[in-house]
Amino acid sequence: MIQTRQREVILDVLYEAGRPLTRVEILQYGRQQIDRLGSATVDRAIREMTDDFCIIGVEFPGQPKRYELPAESEHPHFVCRVCERVFDLPITMELPEIKAPKGFKVSGGEVIYSGTCPNCS
Ligand SMILES: [Zn+2]
Repeated sequence: MIQTRQREVILDVLYEAGRPLTRVEILQYGRQQIDRLGSATVDRAIREMTDDFCIIGVEFPGQPKRYELPAESEHPHFVCRVCERVFDLPITMELPEIKAPKGFKVSGGEVIYSGTCPNCS
């Protein structure tokens, strides 16, 4: 079990960022709070916390896996084409129900918009 302090830092980092972060970003921001935060520790904490649903792993095509805090409602994501950061769009939306073709089993869905973020515009 990872120490509470390290879990707190990860939750804090995700909360402060307000967008899904990669493990590299979590580590980078986390080290601003705990100097000696180890990468193995962060990996282990991320694994435990996703198992516990404290944080949610999100995957976007062609991007490293990212993590975010559980959202209150389904929301679309936005990928910046310039800096490649991923943002949560604070818009409540529901995915349309789809009827999957024979043989396909749908276990999740994502709405992803893209363009340029305020920093890169
Ligand atoms: Zn950008």
